[in-house]
Amino acid sequence: MCYLFENFKGWKDYCLDKNISLEESVIEYECEEKGANKEEILAGLLKAYSVMKDAVKTGLEKDMKSNSGMIDNGAKKVFNHPLTVLSPEFQKLISRALAAKEVNSCMGRVVAAPTAGASGILPGTMVTLQEIHSLSDEQIVKGLLVGAGIALIIEQRASLAGAVGGCQAETGSAAAMASGAIVYCLGGSIDQVFTAVAVTIQCMLGLVCDPVAGLVEVPCVVRNASAASIAFSSAQIALANVNAVIPVDECVEAMGEIGASMESKYKETAMGGLAATLTGQEISKRVLIQDIEILPDEELPE
Ligand code: SF4
Repeated sequence: MCYLFENFKGWKDYCLDKNISLEESVIEYECEEKGANKEEILAGLLKAYSVMKDAVKTGLEKDMKSNSGMIDNGAKKVFNHPLTVLSPEFQKLISRALAAKEVNSCMGRVVAAPTAGASGILPGTMVTLQEIHSLSDEQIVKGLLVGAGIALIIEQRASLAGAVGGCQAETGSAAAMASGAIVYCLGGSIDQVFTAVAVTIQCMLGLVCDPVAGLVEVPCVVRNASAASIAFSSAQIALANVNAVIPVDECVEAMGEIGASMESKYKETAMGGLAATLTGQEISKRVLIQDIEILPDEELPE
C-alpha cells in the first residue's frame, strides 16, 4: 500500500520509514492509482513538461491577444524591455510565467498544474530553473513529481480551486508546488522542501479569486508572475534553513480555514474585488455585449 498523501508529516515519516525519496513515493502512488508502471508515469510527465515549455515559447513568440482585449502580448513586452529592474534572469522568469498563462487566456494548450488559472507558474519557474542550473528534463521531472505530492496534500486538507478556496488555492498552491520543486531539484532535504511550501503558503494566504468579467485573465495573468517570484524567494529562504515557525501542515490548515470563511463573492463569482470595481463592471458589460453580437441569430435568447 502506497502513501495516501494526507499530510506533510505523514509523507516525511513514510519516506524515512521506507528509506525512499519524496519523488519515489509519488511514483509509487501514481503507479498504484493509475495502474501504470514507473516508465509510463515518467514518460507522461516528460510530455507534460514539454507542453509547458511549448506554452512558454508560444507565449513569447505568437500573438497573444485575448478576445476581451484585456490580454495583449504582455509577456513579450516584459521579455523585450530594455530596462531590467533586478536581473536578466528575473526578467525572464516573469515573462515566461506571463507567457504560458497568456497562452491559456488565449485558448492555447497548457498544463493545468494544478489548474488552468495557475498554468504559468510551473512553466515559468521550471524553465528558468533549468536554464540557470543547467538541469536536464529528467531532473525537472523529479521536481514536478514532488510538486504533485505537494498538490495532493493541499487538495486533501484545503483546496486547489479558486471557486472553493479563493486564489490562494490556485496560484498559491501552484507557487507552493513550484517552490518545493525548486528546492528538491537543487538537492534540498525533505525539511527544506516542506519549509519552502510553508513559506510560500504564508506569503499567498488570503488571496481572493476576483476575475474581471469572469474571465481568467485579470488579475490571473499577473498573479502567475508574482507567484513565480514568491516560489523563488521562498526556495531561497528554505535552502538557508530559515525557520518557517508555523509548520507546513498548519499552514495548509490555515489556508483551508481562510478558504472556508471567504465570502462567495471572492470565489470565482466575479462579484467582488477587482471584478466589482467600476472598470471591472464596465469591462464585464462590454464582454457580454460582444458575446451576444457574435452569437448566430438562432442562438440568441428569445
Ligand atoms: S483570480 Fe480566480 S480565476 Fe484567476 S487565477 Fe486566481 S483563482 Fe484562478
